[in-house]
Amino acid sequence: MRETETKAFLEKAKGIYSRMSSNEFAVEIWHKVLENVSYDKCYKALIKYITDDGSHDPKPGDILRIAQSTYEEIIKRERTPCDKCRGTGYIFLIGKDGHESAGACDCENGQANPGLPVITKFSYKFDGLGRVTN
Ligand SMILES: [Zn+2]
Repeated sequence: MRETETKAFLEKAKGIYSRMSSNEFAVEIWHKVLENVSYDKCYKALIKYITDDGSHDPKPGDILRIAQSTYEEIIKRERTPCDKCRGTGYIFLIGKDGHESAGACDCENGQANPGLPVITKFSYKFDGLGRVTN
């Protein structure tokens, strides 16, 4: 990831792990660890981290470890096929201003994610990273 992508990635992670920092220092550390991993891979690794355990704030090493392993298990773990969350139970929203937030899908998978706001929309438009655009 480029440094700007690392910052965007941290902002996304913060949507779920609000205690995480995305200040300059944090970006620098995460960037050093994930420099050679694409944004797309990091993003998928983050989702896998969230769906596998997700109870603690992820460390750069956690994302690196998952990104370096295969993440096909996301699909294997799918409980109920769902076009909206692709079986993860999570919906990532991106607003017109670029602000990202996360919520639980209103399908069966989403019910396994208590504590997150349930997202219900009339239509779901996805961007290239699987985020729902407003
Ligand atoms: Zn769903």
